[in-house]
Amino acid sequence: MESYDVAVLGGGPGGYVAAIRGGQLGAKVCVVEEASLGGTCLNRGCIPSKAFYESAARVLAVRNGAEFGVRASLEGFDMGACVARKNRVVGTLVGGVQKLLQGYGVDLIQGRGTLTAPDAIQVRSPDGSSRVVRARNVIVATGSRPAGLPGLTPDGNRILTTDAVWDLETLPRRLVIVGGGVIGCELAYIFAAFGSRVTVLEALDRILATEEKEASRTVRRSLETLGVEIRTGVRVAGAETRGEEVAVALEDGDPVVGDYAVVAVGRIPASSGIGLEDLGVEVDDRGRIVVNDEMETSVPGVYAVGDVVGQYQLAHVATSEALVAMHNSLGKKYWMDYSIVPYAVFTRPEVASVGAKEAELKEKGVPYKVGRFSFGASGKALCMGEPEGFIKILSHEDTGRILGATIVGAHASDIVGEVAVAMRMEASPGDIVTTIHVHPTISEVVLEASEDTMGLSIHRMARRRRE
Ligand code: NAD
Repeated sequence: MESYDVAVLGGGPGGYVAAIRGGQLGAKVCVVEEASLGGTCLNRGCIPSKAFYESAARVLAVRNGAEFGVRASLEGFDMGACVARKNRVVGTLVGGVQKLLQGYGVDLIQGRGTLTAPDAIQVRSPDGSSRVVRARNVIVATGSRPAGLPGLTPDGNRILTTDAVWDLETLPRRLVIVGGGVIGCELAYIFAAFGSRVTVLEALDRILATEEKEASRTVRRSLETLGVEIRTGVRVAGAETRGEEVAVALEDGDPVVGDYAVVAVGRIPASSGIGLEDLGVEVDDRGRIVVNDEMETSVPGVYAVGDVVGQYQLAHVATSEALVAMHNSLGKKYWMDYSIVPYAVFTRPEVASVGAKEAELKEKGVPYKVGRFSFGASGKALCMGEPEGFIKILSHEDTGRILGATIVGAHASDIVGEVAVAMRMEASPGDIVTTIHVHPTISEVVLEASEDTMGLSIHRMARRRRE
């Protein structure tokens, strides 16, 4: 029987990162993984979608070339080549993770793992054999899977999960996306750019409902400009596959017909069937493993991280939690701080956010200042041909500390990091203003919005004069 300091169940961005850190710290660590290393992020999520995102950008660059003086026409879109490129990118990254694990002396154990005791995982290998791995501590990092809807069960044929959509062999002529959340909007942008006729069906009254209203409006406008039909306030009742098409039934109104339907209504934690119930590991009513801020579950010695904990279903949060869990399982004292979690939605324009939203501050009665700047006034954004979007920075009226930001626009996902660091350093808009930013870059919008907090944005008419 093999014995480890720490056994990690699941090799996604939670699990493999924990294992690498364990190896770096000199611990004897194994990762139990039933499929490909890298989990949802590398194989079915962040990376495939970003590979497709870049293909979409190339299509639009050709289509809109004339404005830039490039006369070109699109002969067609080769879905097979797009998927093959995605597979190469994924393969490179998965191979890289494998090498890193080897390099840090981490054992990769292929098979499905089930916890049989707080210090034991039974692993069933693909060849049917079974063995038990013992470890002083276990980190559960089993991730999540796409949620379904009653009457709308993905069949791998015409009704797809958001996991399966990245392997389509041909470009759908018509694509129906159920859910206008993060994945729904990212898919809508990508497939509309590829040339599909896309319909988004969203139950709530706006897409990206957790974002600032202005962000939802801007993304909606840009998706509609690409030809996406967005229907909000509609509830999906089911779907029926008819030969080579699928009819998505609505509770109210005529069915929406497509070549494919994708169900993008959230993801559920993969917490069942891995022995947690028998061990008495506490799981909440949404299937999320309950952990304290040291990532420890209700059973001593068993830690959990990532989507299976579900605080945030974000790869970078999983990674952060993984480091906390690994350090603690090796006797250190680390804890998670969720007060600054930047994230991004990869539509075009991108949406990125960190910290508080304005509605939240209003509701809590926090005195705040707003600084804004429009991408339409950014030289770099105009040169890029991407004038859509805005940045809004919120800071505390009394302490001056930056409380949050929402950015909609080109490279929003990259520049939100500057605001996150500023928040971490308890900085104020004044600290950003007195930091020289490179010209011409998109990062200048952070500077201008910070200046605007004081009514002094150089490239924006002062409020007093605008009135
Ligand atoms: P989501 O929660 O973001 O969106 C689901 C949407 O489906 C919601 O808007 C909801 O109102 C809608 N919906 C639910 N039931 C419906 C119904 N019956 N009919 C019509 N609409 C319905 O979930 P998601 O987009 O599936 O993403 C899953 C998770 O993965 C999220 O937590 C997300 O943060 C994460 N993710 C993050 C990124 C990123 O960081 N860029 C990318 C992809 C996914």
